[in-house]
Formats: sequence, C-alpha cells, structure tokens
Amino acid sequence: MSNKRDCYEILGVSRDTDEDEIKKAYRRLALKFHPDRNPGDQKAEEMFKEAAEAYEILRDKDKRKIYDLYGYDGLKGTGFSGFSGFEDIFSTFGDIFEDFFGFGGRGSRRTRAKRGNDLRYNLEITLEEAYTGKEEEIAFTRWDTCNECGGTGIKPGREPAVCPACHGRGEVLHSQGFFQIRTVCSTCNGTGSIITDPCKACMGTGKIKAQRKVLIKIPAGIDNGMQLRVQGEGEPGEKGGPPGDLYVAVFIKEHEFFVREEDDLKCQIPISFVQGILGSEVSIPVLGDNGKIDITIPEGTQPGDIIRVKGKGMPNLRKGRGFGDLFIQIMVSIPKKISQRQKELLMEFMEIEKQKRPSKTREFWEKIKGN
Ligand SMILES: [Zn+2]
Ligand SMILES: [Zn+2]
Repeated sequence: MSNKRDCYEILGVSRDTDEDEIKKAYRRLALKFHPDRNPGDQKAEEMFKEAAEAYEILRDKDKRKIYDLYGYDGLKGTGFSGFSGFEDIFSTFGDIFEDFFGFGGRGSRRTRAKRGNDLRYNLEITLEEAYTGKEEEIAFTRWDTCNECGGTGIKPGREPAVCPACHGRGEVLHSQGFFQIRTVCSTCNGTGSIITDPCKACMGTGKIKAQRKVLIKIPAGIDNGMQLRVQGEGEPGEKGGPPGDLYVAVFIKEHEFFVREEDDLKCQIPISFVQGILGSEVSIPVLGDNGKIDITIPEGTQPGDIIRVKGKGMPNLRKGRGFGDLFIQIMVSIPKKISQRQKELLMEFMEIEKQKRPSKTREFWEKIKGN
C-alpha cells in the first residue's frame, strides 16, 4: 500500500473528469506552489512536486487506466518513478509555465542571453601608413565557443545534472533577521544545473582559447589614439547572445621629421645664413608626391620664419577629402669654423654694412648707449 495521497484528490478533480480539466487543475496548483513564488517554502515545494506527479499520471491515458485499477503500486512496473527535482518537472512541463509566466518555468535568469565581451587591440603604425591608409591583418587570441561540445561544457552525449544546492532553481534564499534575500546559486552560477561529465576539450567551460586573424582597414588620415570598431569580432555571446566587438586602437609612431597637429604637419629645416640672406631653392621631404617637393626660401628669410605649403599635410579623415597644410620653420645655422678666405670676405661685408645708412641693428645699439 502506498501512503501517497490520491491523484484526483491532489488535483482536486473528480474521477471521471476529462484531460482538459486535469490540465487546468494542474496549472492552477503549479502556479500557486511555484518555487519562484514560494521561495524557501518547504511545504509549497512538496505540494508542487506532488501536483506534478499526479498530473504526470493522469495526463497519460495508459498510466491513468493503470492507476485507476491498481493505484500507485500498479505503476511501479511501468518505469514511472516520480520526479527527481524541479529541473525534472520543468523540463517535462515547461510549456505549461511558459503560458502563464511569460518566461520559461525554470526561472528567467538562466535563459537570459548575454552579449560577448568586447576586445581591445593596440596597433602601432607609421605616419606614412597613416597618410596613405592601409590594410593590416592582425592576429590575436580570444575565447571562442568550444567546437567539441558546442559551448555547453558537457561531454558530447551526456546530460547536465540538477544542481544539488538550489534544486535547479538557480538561486538560493538566505535569512537575515527579518528579511529573506535571494542570491544567485554559487554552486551552479544560477544555471540550475551542474556538469558532472565535463567536455575534455574545454574542461567544462564551453570556451576555448583560439587564434583569430582579422583584416583591419585603416583609413587614410587616421589620427593617433583613434579606435576602429570591428563588429562581432569580440568574444562569443552566451546562451544565444550576440558576440562582442573588437576595438582596434591605432597609435602612430613618432616621426623623425614631421610633427602632426590635426591635419597639419610641422617641420623644421636648417639653412645657412647665406641662404637666408640671398634666398634659395631647397628640396624638402614630404609624405606623398614621391617623398620630395621643391620650395623657395625667399631673400631675407629670418630665423624662425614659417613657410606654409598648402595641401601638403595629412588627408582629412572627417571630410574624406582634402589635405591639411605643411608648416616649415626655418632654422638658420651659423658656421663655427670658416676658412681664411671666407673670413676676409665677411670682414669686407661688415665694412660695407658700417657705411650703410642706419640699420635696425645699429638703431638698437644706439638706443642702449643713450640710456
Ligand atoms: Zn545551483
Ligand atoms: Zn567543450
């Protein structure tokens, strides 16, 4: 004899009731005693299991017939052994709960999709490469979904077991004085199940470190510290969530000759004092135009003077067309050693200077003496 309550009694229906009524009765009880609504309530937990077992028997025509004739004992030979826990119940009758709760009967937390993590990659390029733009294949390691187990972490062909700590609910209750606090189950991390047979390839994590190569398109005119976003090349999402993105931060190496300021380039060139006085044509390096252009240093160029060359700066990334300017600062170098002949010529030069009408230099010194 079984000391279990009668199935019809449990569901509160009559013996000749139809399938529809049985289903409705079970739904009502399942909602009433659902573990999400009665956290930590042992009595409700038992009622919930009891109702599930009764429903499991009565919804099946054959089992119901056997039960009607022989009671619980008659079902022993049919393989029916009740439920091992909530996980069992939810996986059997999950659809019933979905109708009512609007989410899976197993609690919402564990089924929530999670977007994969974003990744960051630092890429160093030269100013020349920033000028022309380029394509570069970058290689990095990232976590990827394990191919062996498809990300489940379970040895192929095996099933996860119900978490013994939370009985498959994914959360546990703690009493703190007057309050009850729900926290995510730390044994199963809220998934409600634990892996007893882990996948060997990923050690049960569902993820493996994998090499990944991605072709990056660096646009012409990119500036130091800018980030390029490559959609979907981050880490894979969890439970059907989308993958994260890859952010490539571009850093530009210092150039030996040019300093960049937004789209403009700046440089300094040394000329001799004679070139400054007489003016001259000089060839200077640029990015583009085969690397060189000729510029004219005008007569009487002073140290520190700036010559602006339009359109010889960096490409404008934002506008997608046009270029910044190049600013050339003139440095005048004074020779430390000169020949006897040069000295004679300069002495002569100085004599002529003295005889000229007052120059700016002389005016300056005369003012100082006068004070
Ligand atoms: Zn758990
Ligand atoms: Zn695996």
